[in-house]
Amino acid sequence: MPDRYVIANWKMNLPPEGIDAYADALNRIEGGNARLVIAPPYPYIERVARRVRDGHGVAAQNCSDHDKGAFTGEVAPAMLREAGARFVILGHSERRAIFGETDGIVARKVTIALATSLTPILCIGENLRTRDAGNASRVLADQIRAAAEGLGSGAVILAYEPIWAIGTGRNASGTMVAETVGHIRDAMGRFWPQAAAKETPILYGGSVTPDNVAELVGHGHIDGFLVGGASLDSGKFAAIHRALA
Ligand code: PEP
Repeated sequence: MPDRYVIANWKMNLPPEGIDAYADALNRIEGGNARLVIAPPYPYIERVARRVRDGHGVAAQNCSDHDKGAFTGEVAPAMLREAGARFVILGHSERRAIFGETDGIVARKVTIALATSLTPILCIGENLRTRDAGNASRVLADQIRAAAEGLGSGAVILAYEPIWAIGTGRNASGTMVAETVGHIRDAMGRFWPQAAAKETPILYGGSVTPDNVAELVGHGHIDGFLVGGASLDSGKFAAIHRALA
């Protein structure tokens, strides 16, 4: 059975209740069989890592595809690890669309993150045109094949995030997610080492809230969630975690 995760992607935001209050609220969560991970902006990684209790994890939202050098504004994976991150979100659709990250760049980042003992949270997803044209599984399979180059025999967490569902309030239905996760597992079986194909957790992300999470969980197949907007409120994030248990 793959491990389960509920991951908070704060993006370039901070929780209105304050970082320490947020971390303390998560520290009070008892039970559940999914690990909680928080991905704050870079400057807050160290503070969150110091504040959250053992068992919760901290992720960076991105990393450089180089380990050091003249890359102004970039942050090396080893620096993120030193700050307390143990995971790194890679290939988020905002990085692909706004910052021009290609499958090749994402694969290089996966390699360097794994070499630094950061677990990549690898994001894949189709746009609405692709979904409507019936090409979603093919495009997702292409992204999985491209990631194989960076993967080697390393372990990643995969986040399926349909682009049309991110930050739009329009989440995919439980049936659609369950069916798509099946296609993703299939493509992993074709392109990834067998152990990775079986053991990689597959999370869903895209406008998950406490109101729609039960429907998504009800269809099975999902090993957790990557949450943006709703993760900025510790109460909502905790409710999503509870629904998975
Ligand atoms: C995300 O950014 O990864 C995400 C899923 O955002 P939201 O939950 O706001 O759609």
